[in-house]
This record gives sequence, structure tokens and C-alpha cells, in this order.
Amino acid sequence: MLKSTTTTITGGGGAATSFTTTTLLTAIFLSIFLLTTSFTPKSTYHSLFTSFSDNTSISHNLFSLTRRPHVAGTQANADTAAYVLSTLASYTLRSHITSYHVSLTYPLSRTLILTRSPPDDTSITKFDLRQEIYAGDPYADVAGEVLPTFHAYAKSGTTAGQVVYVNYGRVEDYVTLKAMGVNVSGNIALARYGQIFRGDIVRHAYDAGAVAVVVFSDTKDYGGGGGEGARWFPDDKWMPPSGVQVGTVYGGTGDPTTPGWTSTSGCERLSVDEVELRGELPLIPSLPVSAADGDAIIRSIGGQVAGDDWQGGINAPVYRVGPGPGFLNLSYTGNQVIATIQNVFGVIKGSEEPDRFVLLGNHRDAWTFGAVDPNSGTAALLEVARRLGKLKKRGWRPRRTIVFCNWDAEEYGLVGSTEWVEENREMLASRVVAYLNVDCAVSGAGFHASATPQLDELLKQAAQQVQDPDNSSQTMYDSWIGSDDSSKIGRLGGGGSDYAPFIQHVGVPSVDMFYGGAYPVYHSMYDDFEWMKKFGDPTFHRHVAVASIWGLVALRLADEEFLPFNYLSYAQELQESTKKFEDEVSSKGISLLPLYKSIDKLKKSAIKINKQIKVIQESRVWPSLWKRDHLEVREMNDRLMMAERAFTDRDGLVGRSWYKHLVYGPSKHDDYGSKSFPGIDDAIEKAKILNTAESWHSVQHEIWRVARAITDVSLVLGGELT
Ligand SMILES: [Zn+2]
Repeated sequence: MLKSTTTTITGGGGAATSFTTTTLLTAIFLSIFLLTTSFTPKSTYHSLFTSFSDNTSISHNLFSLTRRPHVAGTQANADTAAYVLSTLASYTLRSHITSYHVSLTYPLSRTLILTRSPPDDTSITKFDLRQEIYAGDPYADVAGEVLPTFHAYAKSGTTAGQVVYVNYGRVEDYVTLKAMGVNVSGNIALARYGQIFRGDIVRHAYDAGAVAVVVFSDTKDYGGGGGEGARWFPDDKWMPPSGVQVGTVYGGTGDPTTPGWTSTSGCERLSVDEVELRGELPLIPSLPVSAADGDAIIRSIGGQVAGDDWQGGINAPVYRVGPGPGFLNLSYTGNQVIATIQNVFGVIKGSEEPDRFVLLGNHRDAWTFGAVDPNSGTAALLEVARRLGKLKKRGWRPRRTIVFCNWDAEEYGLVGSTEWVEENREMLASRVVAYLNVDCAVSGAGFHASATPQLDELLKQAAQQVQDPDNSSQTMYDSWIGSDDSSKIGRLGGGGSDYAPFIQHVGVPSVDMFYGGAYPVYHSMYDDFEWMKKFGDPTFHRHVAVASIWGLVALRLADEEFLPFNYLSYAQELQESTKKFEDEVSSKGISLLPLYKSIDKLKKSAIKINKQIKVIQESRVWPSLWKRDHLEVREMNDRLMMAERAFTDRDGLVGRSWYKHLVYGPSKHDDYGSKSFPGIDDAIEKAKILNTAESWHSVQHEIWRVARAITDVSLVLGGELT
């Protein structure tokens, strides 16, 4: 929906207080007024923004960014930083690079040897751990620059043991193994990718006593199911049998040697032992392997047959759990170095509130070529910047400052964004209106968005203004939300991308969005421009759509006089999340009443501020349109902006104090999993295991803590001291 004329014209800023009230004159004046570019209503610019789309420029930028593999800390990635910097500058944005010195790891050596069961089968396989180049691969000449397959921050070491198959490596999988009487301790766990964060796969294996972990991409999940006539990239979108998903196994956020502070040259750093004590780095070695190698290892395992949902795809062997007789020797050596990384920024200064920031963020570093992850997002970011540059040429200036952020070293553990957030924490806490993240912009069809709930309405409205890239007769809104309005917008509890430091550490209202979702060649050598052109987005119209909705949301946040935040949706959402706990706690004498009461207060404050804003808007009777009430407007906006911060707590989540937000934070057992009220959830999980009065009492304590935070939010939003 477009905003009313009243607010838009005020946004254009007019000093003409002396014109007459004659209707005719007013009409003539207004016509001239609107024709003059410098006074074009903001909504006109917003419509122009979508009309400026250009899929060829997006495809060109993506091609240029993905010519070579560009892992964080390498020269190749410094080159992509220079590319983004100069491209932003060419779109007339003021741009700069901010560097950090961070602890990253690269693989030095790895070996994996499988010994089968003598005397029946004495064959030994030394896996070559190599992703194959296919005939006609246009990237064959630079494939040698792809890093050997590894897990970032994996523990270095040499181990050996019989293999135990642990399915997806979830907590419940180990419960199943225990019930089957299978001993994991002292053995090497073979897990498959696809359900939880790989760092949690390694941690759960360690908790079960495994000495190392091998993680494979099962054909069932990544190879199209297998069977006769199975095809894979470049003939189909599926992962080739030699494809390997690399990635980090670090469970924390930011440089592990500088927890909570900025990684600059010569700064204080934790020692190796101190880092290990924090429990966020893996304590046993691990290696990722291909579907083909996983299949070979599976075939060496005997013992009980695994359950149906533990089995493989069509034509796969029968999966058994072991242990053994297949026996693995695994060794891995990583090289831990202090590397230089580059965050790139582009700024369009606000004309009326330059000290209020709307941030758009995407990371640039990739495990390989990064056509989907993350440079589809970088290409979309540059597209937004290009279109805003064109708007600037037509006379548009945002009311608030817009900052484009292009992060480095996200893949290692949100390192670039986290270091910057830690360095600028106070400025961000007092001045940022919202953070809008896009990691992988496109990996296929189907739009998905997650947000803090005060932004739900805005997202839906923006989707109504963008054409569906896969069906030109409807809007993105029609295909995304359609007739069923319930729970289509996800939440930001998970740790999957750069929104985490903003929402979970500082409490900045945030959004994350993408087309597609999980895709088979994720974090492998085959995530390249060819794959995108053939399977991800052949016409680049999905990229166009992401840029359009991303830019429209940013434009409205930057230009609207009153921030388009609706805290009634937030209260509604909190109420629903609270209800989910009822079954689990009611029989334990735990009361959710403090939470319900605080949510009620939040509702009242939300209604109050919505009314106050309406009063200000309606008091501007034409033609006293130019009555300046800046301070009143600013006060409303400050309350809307700062309310989210009050969800954060100085002490943070128990045992994970970097996570300050008490409503949205990662699940303890899966960093990708999004949980509401993670502190209450952690306490319940713990109490279910311990089942002591004390453990259930701590559940009640966590409920009180969250209730107090929500009460704080309602006080900030209400704007009055007690
Ligand atoms: Zn990414």
C-alpha cells in the first residue's frame, strides 16, 4: 500500500509557508510542485524503483563475482571486495572497506582410509577426497583453486576406529542407537548431512563418545534419490557422486579468539586453551565426504539393520548401524592463521534524519565459486544499489541513511558482520532502524521470508508491489501468502546468517529472505554460474524480484515519516508462542501467567502508540501541511525503533551470554533451528532430563525473565516513565 499524500509531501520537505489558501491556486501550485523533480512524492520514486529492474546487469555482476573460488582471507576474495567497492562507486554511492584481522582455518592435509572386514574382504580404500571436473566444465582451469574438502575449525588429529552409522546425527538418533544397544564410544561416527547444523553433528558425536566424525551427502537427499537413469550436474540440478559439502563446524559467532570484542591488528586474543574452554569449537576431528565415499563406507558396516527412515535412496545398499566391521583411519591437519578480511560498505546519506540507519546486508565470501551462496545475494544487493543510484539522479534523497553492507567470512561463523557489530555496538543500538539480510538470494522457485513480527505487514505490502517472477499474471504476494495468511513468515531464532548479530546480540528489527531454499550443490564445487544459469534462475527474474522486494522494504523504512512497524503483530506472535508451552509446563505447577500479563501490556502500548501517531497525522489540516512537528515525529519513531532493543538482556541466555535477545535465539541442539523463547526452551529441555524441583524452578525463573523483558518493551513503546 502506498502511504498517504500528507506524509509523503512532508517527506519532500517544503519551506513554502506563505502561499494562499485559495483552492484554485493550491491546485495549480500542487501540480507544479509535483512536476518539479525535487518535490516528487516518495511513493512515485518507489514505483520508479521497481520499474528500473535489469536482469542482464544482475547476471553480469554474478558472472564477474564468481569467476574464481573466493574463500575468506584469500587474495581472490580481496579481489571480489574491490569489485563490489568499485561497482557501488560506479552507481554513485559513497563506498569504503573496513578490514578485520581474524582467526580462520584452512586445510593442510587430510587422509581417510577404509579397511573392510578380513578375512571375507581384505580390500583397503584410500579415498582421494576430490571433487571431479566434468567434461566441458568452463571452470576446469580454476578448479585447482578450490580448497581441499574440509570442515572449517575442525580439530586437527589422527584417529582410528570402527564405523557406527548415526543417521543425521541428531540427539534423537543417538537415543535410537542407545535403545538398539549400539555403542558409539571409541568409534568413528558416520553421519549424513541434511537435518541439522554440521557443527551440532560433530558435537553430538563427541557427546556420545565418538573419536571422529565423517559426514556424507546421501544420494537420497542430495542426488535426486538415485536409481536407474539418475542424472546430476551438469545434466540435472543434483549433486554429482563426487560432490562434497564443506562448511564450518564452529558453534559460536564471530572470531573465536575475540568473543564479544573487535578483531583488530594486535588486539587481545584468547589462547588456544581459553578458546577450547568456551566449548564452541569441536573437540574431535571431522571430515566431509561425497555420496560415493559415504556409500562405500556404508557397505562396510554390519550389525543390525537400521530403521526405515535411516535408509538410503533407490538402489542403495541396506544401511546397518555397526559398529564395524568397517574400520576407518582418519587424519586431519588444519592451519589456523590470522587473516585479513574485508567488509565493503556503500552509503546514501539521509536528507532529514542522517543519523538513522537502514541497513541492507549480504555476505560475499564463498566456499567455492558461490553462485548461489552467497553471490546471488551480492548481485541482488548491487541491483538495489544500482536502482537507488538512478533514483538519486532523478532527485530522490532518502529521509534516513541507507547503508549497503557486504560482509566477509560469514561462512566461518558470521565473522565479518559480528566483528563490525561488536565494534559499532553502541552506535547501532541507538541508531539502526532495521537490518535487512539476504544471503543466498536465489537457489530455485518459491519465496521465503523471516522477520521480527513488527515488520510482517510491511513485508506483505511490499510483496504486493512486486510481480511474481514465475507467473506474470500475479504478484509475489499471491504466490507467497495467497489466501492462507497464517504463519508464512518465519522467525529469526536460528544462527544461519548475518542477521544473527543484529537481532540476537543487539536487538535490531530484522528480515531475512530468499527464493528457493535448500539446494543440492550447496557448499560444493558445483555451486557455480553454470548451475545458476541452468537450474537456479535461467532468466534472472527471481533475482530481480528479490532486489525489488528488498529495495522496497528498505525504501519504505528509509522514507516514511513514521516507521512502518506494527507491534500488535508482535504481541499476537508472542501470545501464540507462549501457548505452545502450555502442555509441557502445566502439569509441573509452572505458571505462564507472568508472560501472558506482560504480553497484554505490550498490546496496550502498541495500541497507544498507533493512536498517538494517528492523532499527529490527523492534526495536520490542509494547508497547514507544513507545520513542522519534527520532534513529536522523532519521539514516536525513537519509541518504535528502541522497543525491539528491550527484548535483550544484559546477561543473555544462560551459558550463552553473547545471545542477548530473550525471544529469538538458536536452539541448543541445532544452530539452524529457530526457537521462540530459547531460554525457556533450554530450561524445559534440561528439566525434562533432570526432573528435579530445582530444574523445574529454573523454568519458572526463565519465564519471569522473559516476562520482565516484554514489560520493558511495553514501557519503551508506551514512552512514559513509571
Ligand atoms: Zn551464505
